[in-house]
Amino acid sequence: MPGKGSGLYCRRWSKVFSGEILDTALTDFSTRAGCLLTTGYTTSFHVQPVNIRQQILQSWAKSYLTPLRQSAKALAAIVTSTWVKTSPTIGPVLGFPRAPVHGKPGKGFDYSFIQFPPGPEPEILETDVVIVGSGCGGGVCAKNLAEAGHRVMVVEKAYHWPPEHLPMTERDAGIQLFANGGIESVDDQSISIIAGQAWGGGGTVNWSASLQTQAYVRKEWADKGLAFFTSSEFQDSLDRVCHRMGVSTEHVEHNMNNKTLSEGARKLGYSHKMVPQNTGGNKHYCGYCTLGCGAAEKQGPVVSFLPDAERSGAQFIEGCEADKVLFENVEGRKVATGVKGRWTSRDSSGGVGGSDRYSRDVIINAKRVIVSDLLELFFSIQRVRRVQDIFRGIVLSVLSL
Ligand SMILES: Cc1cc2nc3c(=O)[nH]c(=O)nc-3n(C[C@H](O)[C@H](O)[C@H](O)COP(=O)(O)OP(=O)(O)OC[C@H]3O[C@@H](n4cnc5c(N)ncnc54)[C@H](O)[C@@H]3O)c2cc1C
Repeated sequence: MPGKGSGLYCRRWSKVFSGEILDTALTDFSTRAGCLLTTGYTTSFHVQPVNIRQQILQSWAKSYLTPLRQSAKALAAIVTSTWVKTSPTIGPVLGFPRAPVHGKPGKGFDYSFIQFPPGPEPEILETDVVIVGSGCGGGVCAKNLAEAGHRVMVVEKAYHWPPEHLPMTERDAGIQLFANGGIESVDDQSISIIAGQAWGGGGTVNWSASLQTQAYVRKEWADKGLAFFTSSEFQDSLDRVCHRMGVSTEHVEHNMNNKTLSEGARKLGYSHKMVPQNTGGNKHYCGYCTLGCGAAEKQGPVVSFLPDAERSGAQFIEGCEADKVLFENVEGRKVATGVKGRWTSRDSSGGVGGSDRYSRDVIINAKRVIVSDLLELFFSIQRVRRVQDIFRGIVLSVLSL
């Protein structure tokens, strides 16, 4: 594994595939009987020459046994992703310079995050609405609710990186801007998801493509009883979001790949359209969106909705992972009344790598709780299997806002 960051990457990735399948496969490698069973040799895997190890893994990929196929898939994903993110040669070979050639650095919003002094007791805060997650959903909720006069508090487990830290390297972005080092996967790897984990959530690392929810999807939701999604009110909401972010096709300049694709489509008679981008009505051609926007031009939540929310009095806590939604019984109904989380300070230099950081438990009592990260909800369901608790309290709270 090349590069200094690979160790950290591997530790992160080992979490991704913590599934029993890979664990069992790796344990089997350490015994003769296990090796015979999984590799066909009594020699331990790690002392086999490289070509034999390669052969074994390739045979796993085609095995009739599902666990072996899944292990091969997991190992290939770990190695490929780690190599792509930490290789010092891949950038120069692909002609992808460290920093964008087009565009210039921009200035970010000057956030003031709540800070807590060291102490043994939990910090207890009060608000009207607590929003877990500062991403695309959380940012829009925070703006709308704060502008409507509610006291709003947003808790985000990741940290804010202003434009001068962006775009990060692939390696640093994987650690600081993405969930779980770049990928979340269920134990059998049937589903893998890439998700942002940063101040601004996925909006900090996404590709700027800003499509409105398509008609057939809205209809499907409406057919399931959610009539709001085919209403003109929902259309107005989409338009307002797009307007705030300056979504447009006017300033898009395509790279060579896209030009080739659209020209190919034209020649084949396929219909194709330009995808609008949220670049605030500016031409923005840099190619580094997923590593964070150093120009502060992409109108993700960090540049648009969260500053609007702060200007209307919303308060923010970075570095605070909400680990529990608090419930109370109100007239026979289980209602979410707040969240409990753990906050970790920055170090004395303002970074997140120093040894002088400290943690505090934080309890936020609120009239309403919004968990904006559906992905987290999905994985929580997988992990803790408290489906009913999670859904009853939180979704009801969101819908009753
Ligand atoms: C690389 C990439 C490219 C993409 N490109 C596009 C694109 O071009 N166009 C498009 O429309 N969409 C794109 N997306 C998808 C889009 O960004 C997401 O759909 C969107 O961000 C989801 O919004 P959200 O609010 O549900 O969650 P997110 O934006 O993911 O925000 C959730 C936030 O909650 C935080 N969080 C989670 N759990 C906790 C907890 N327990 N305590 C505190 N905080 C917590 C997370 O750290 C995260 O910051 C892309 C996504 C990625 C990852």
